Parts: sequence; C-alpha cells; structure tokens
Amino acid sequence: MRVLLIEDDDRVAGPLMEGLRRFGFAVEHARTGAAGLSAPEPAMVLLDLGLPDMDGIDVCRALRARSPVPIIMITARDDEVDRVLGLELGADDYVSKPFGVRELVARIRAVTRRARPGALGAGPETGAGGAGGTPGAQRIGALAIDRRTRQVHLHGSPIALAPKEFDLLTCLAEDPGAVCSRRQILDTAWEPHYFGPTKTLDVHIAALRRKLGDSSWIENIRGIGFRLVPPSAPHAASTPPPGPCVGGAR
Ligand code: CA
Repeated sequence: MRVLLIEDDDRVAGPLMEGLRRFGFAVEHARTGAAGLSAPEPAMVLLDLGLPDMDGIDVCRALRARSPVPIIMITARDDEVDRVLGLELGADDYVSKPFGVRELVARIRAVTRRARPGALGAGPETGAGGAGGTPGAQRIGALAIDRRTRQVHLHGSPIALAPKEFDLLTCLAEDPGAVCSRRQILDTAWEPHYFGPTKTLDVHIAALRRKLGDSSWIENIRGIGFRLVPPSAPHAASTPPPGPCVGGAR
C-alpha cells in the first residue's frame, strides 16, 4: 500500500517512514504542501497540519476536493480547532503528536477498511468471523458498542471512530433515547469544565453522524442537547422524560 507522508519535520518523518516500511507500507515523503499536492495519487495520505508553505487545512481541503483518498491528519496536541476543522472538511481521522507507529498503523488499517472494505486483504481484523461476534457489546438497533475494546459495529461491520467520537457515542448510548445536555456531553466526552469552543461538539456530532451513515441516529434537541435514536425506531411525538443523562443547569 502506497502512503504519502506530508510532513516538513524530518525528525518526525524519518522514524515514521522507517516504522511504516517495517510494517510493509511504501512511503513517499513530501516536505511541503505544494509537493504533497503535486505527488502522484497515493492510497493514503498522512498529513501534518503545520507545514512551511501552506496551511495543512488547505492541503486537506484541496485533496478532498479532487479525490476520496483517505486522509489521516497528524496534529499537535493544541491543534484541536484545526483538527475538528479537518474532520469537517473530510479528513478521516487524526493522530496527535507524539504517537507511536503502531497506533498510526492501526488508524491506517481502520480508515482503509472503512474506505475500501477488503483493500488490505484478509488480515486478522478483516476476518468475517469477527464481525458480528462482540459478546460484551451494547446493542442499539443495528449498532453494537463494545466499551471494553472500544469497537463499534454497524450492521455487523466495524466502523472506525476517532477517540472523541467514540467517547461522544458512548455518552449518548448511556441512555438511548434520553436527551443529553450539551454541558453533560462536554463534561463526559471532553473534560469537566471544558471551556473551549462548543462548536467542537457540533463538529464531532457531524462527523459521527456521517460515520453512522444516517444523520437521524443523533437527534438535535434545539437549545438543549442531543439524543441517540436508531433511525428505524418510531419517533415519539413529544420529548421523552429526561433521563439520568440530563444533569446540567441549562
Ligand atoms: Ca510540521
């Protein structure tokens, strides 16, 4: 599998390329956004957001405008705004520096599986036998959430969620159908007293909806919060009584 790494910092790129090659990936390296955009189309793009010649977000946007190539962003810890923007623009996932090659390889495999099922051949993760067999999983309609392994299956197929998306989903799944206030979700999936941009939450909700394949999985209760409902379930005409998830003062 041919991977294009767009990263200006050789101290990051060097070990990363070496590690990825050990895992059998063919890695091409671009040190600028322009070089990355003019490289031959790879099977996967690893995109550093902090590039010398242009904003990594613009590289992401340009890549996505012309091709469905899977994109994994490489971000610094304090890059949350860029990260959510990148996901909104169609990046598939991200890793935060510092990260290990194994973690990145796991993300590459998960993203590839989601983008083109079967593309990696019959690896252990793609075995059909494992798809439905998640005994400890919580089931909500066609969705199976395994908190122990942090795996999510939809109609028996794994879906790859970014860590925050998983936390967001499990928060909503604590009490399916019940409304979770925005504050409650931020406190649970982010951290108590999170004071960052609350647009972050909306961006992650949008990304999660996209991955669930049907936006009606997550219902927006205007001005209050969200609730998780299987799309096939009959919708109650009125708002259900508040579940234990609603605890905020607003
Ligand atoms: Ca950089």
